[in-house]
Amino acid sequence: MKIDFLIIGQGLAGTLLAHFLEQAGKRVHVIDHFDERAATQVAAGIINPITGRRYVKSWRVDELIPFARATYRELESQLGISIYHERNILRALFNSREENDWLARTAEPGYGRYMLDAAELEGYAACTVPAYSYGEVQHSAQVEVGKLADAYRAYLQGQNAITAEAFDHEKLELSGNEVRYGGLEAQTLVFCEGHQAKGNPFFSYLPFGGAKGEVLIIRIPEAQFEKILKHRVFIVPMQDGLYWAGSTYGRKYADGRPTVEGREYLEGRLRDILKLPFEVVEHRAAIRPTVKDRRPFLGRHPEYPQLALFNGLGAKGASLGPFWAKHMADFLIKNVTLEEAVDIGRFG
Ligand SMILES: Cc1cc2nc3c(=O)[nH]c(=O)nc-3n(C[C@H](O)[C@H](O)[C@H](O)COP(=O)(O)OP(=O)(O)OC[C@H]3O[C@@H](n4cnc5c(N)ncnc54)[C@H](O)[C@@H]3O)c2cc1C
Repeated sequence: MKIDFLIIGQGLAGTLLAHFLEQAGKRVHVIDHFDERAATQVAAGIINPITGRRYVKSWRVDELIPFARATYRELESQLGISIYHERNILRALFNSREENDWLARTAEPGYGRYMLDAAELEGYAACTVPAYSYGEVQHSAQVEVGKLADAYRAYLQGQNAITAEAFDHEKLELSGNEVRYGGLEAQTLVFCEGHQAKGNPFFSYLPFGGAKGEVLIIRIPEAQFEKILKHRVFIVPMQDGLYWAGSTYGRKYADGRPTVEGREYLEGRLRDILKLPFEVVEHRAAIRPTVKDRRPFLGRHPEYPQLALFNGLGAKGASLGPFWAKHMADFLIKNVTLEEAVDIGRFG
């Protein structure tokens, strides 16, 4: 079968890229061996415009958030799902210095639209151990990225445009300007393998990182929280009375599985925060596809231009994914010049 693009990996990166390529009228086929330990299946999908200990705006957030919202809304209506939930984030501040820094930041140009003057604690006031003070962020959101990938997979299955198997790099044939794999012939193959790209023989020269995260899915029977709380860990409302609590962040790990230490750490933090009893429903782990300079990886292979890569969404795939997937699609289809900050060419 002749196609325009063969995509390897259908996590958030592969899903969004397939969406923009299809939208441009291209014939796309995807190969993914479904992996419930993919980052996309474990992530909370928080979009947080104000991050870090210094409360700075996330990189390019003024462009990224409106673009992300529009893209997820588009996919919601195409697939008949609800995944983009606008939720303010309550940020616990632990001493007067943190409070002063937060207040000083709210007064800076460009910050007022994201940071509220006063935080409204809603249900958290009675149910959590109070911090020194709180800040509140708006235009933040939670995107059910795992649900999006699942719904998009079903859509691709309906089009006969996905093969559920592990891609074997050794069976790939490069001929002229094309690629051949099994019965598929494509003009370009795009790898969207998440952290597994480390083992990709064509792109392993790139400095892939990897950061393991463990999370708990919990039930807090007496709670009714609407906002996201960032205290010692994040507590994020999900559907059916469940909450996502996490996560750990480890650059050194033996494998991608949940650990006893990870669970103890998270349960300990939750006991520090919650005055209410909670029950652990699930303990999950995954590896984030991080990059040293915290910028995505986009580009074509320097020697084999029929091979391309879209990766490196790191810990912020929900906000970075849509904007850079569109940029990647424009690069692949219209030959638009890649922005230097995300071009894999920055690593030689
Ligand atoms: C604990 C945790 C919490 C997170 N929380 C957030 C958050 O709140 N907000 C946020 O924005 N981001 C968050 N992230 C980051 C986010 O999950 C990632 O940025 C994003 O999901 C990466 O998507 P991806 O498609 O690049 O990788 P992945 O989700 O890992 O997908 C890669 C896909 O490729 C497939 N694949 C790989 N190799 C092969 C092969 N050889 N053959 C076939 N298929 C293959 C896999 O099966 C998988 O489906 C979190 C991540 C973790 C781990």
